[in-house]
Amino acid sequence: MEIIIKEIPEEGMQLHLDSKKDGWFRQALSDSLSDLYKTGDKGEGEFELLRIGVNVDCSGVVDCDCHPTCCRCLKVFPSHMEVPIHLTLAPLYESERQLKLEQKDEVALVKDDLEFSYYEGDDFNLGGIIREQVILALPLQTLCKKNCKGLCQRCGKDLNEGPCDCKQEQADPRWRPLKAFKAKR
Ligand SMILES: [Zn+2]
Ligand SMILES: [Zn+2]
Repeated sequence: MEIIIKEIPEEGMQLHLDSKKDGWFRQALSDSLSDLYKTGDKGEGEFELLRIGVNVDCSGVVDCDCHPTCCRCLKVFPSHMEVPIHLTLAPLYESERQLKLEQKDEVALVKDDLEFSYYEGDDFNLGGIIREQVILALPLQTLCKKNCKGLCQRCGKDLNEGPCDCKQEQADPRWRPLKAFKAKR
């Protein structure tokens, strides 16, 4: 959704987003979450946009259901994400970073860059911001529960459902020669 900056009123603009009603919001969620986002997963957003001089302060939170895959047992499980967003949008050409880039100075990606973004012209795309921030918030590893036992490396059984039959043979293979040696003696 394109936000025309000069249309943001003096007192700020409040947005209540619902993935059931706002197609562009649903699209932004499904773009950033891809396989994690299933039809029927709820998504809500609350945003406040405030003009501060030439900058726009964009703060809010995205709340959504998702269906990640557990990295241990490979089960898809229902989960929930809450992504707080706080960004200051500055006009591209007035940003120091852009000036530095033009002077071909090396610009280190400092943490501040993550909380700063830029707009070009007189509008910006809120869907793009939401996409970017949700992707940044995605956990690298997801577990269906903290103590998920995962799958047996040998038979593939889900060990959360109980031990498998090959448990006995799972001893550390490095000890096997020692066992054989002891048996010989
Ligand atoms: Zn699991
Ligand atoms: Zn097994």
